[in-house]
Amino acid sequence: MICERCGNEIFKYEQCNYCKRKICVNCMKSSRRVSKINRIVICKDCWGKMSRRKQFKSESKVEKSEIKYEPYPYQR
Ligand SMILES: [Zn+2]
Ligand SMILES: [Zn+2]
Repeated sequence: MICERCGNEIFKYEQCNYCKRKICVNCMKSSRRVSKINRIVICKDCWGKMSRRKQFKSESKVEKSEIKYEPYPYQR
């Protein structure tokens, strides 16, 4: 398939959570895991937009608090 941002052919894509385009790793600016199943990705275009970058950073704070309150696994 083709990266929707730069047009390069890619085998594995990431999807930007803000513009919803399927992008290659080169076009991906940053990614964060916000929970065990959710991961957010931001592309270089969206990173350049202040409002989206702020949103991305505030979402990454959720990740930190979740790690903080995640219980340690009990011994069996
Ligand atoms: Zn690309
Ligand atoms: Zn984007």
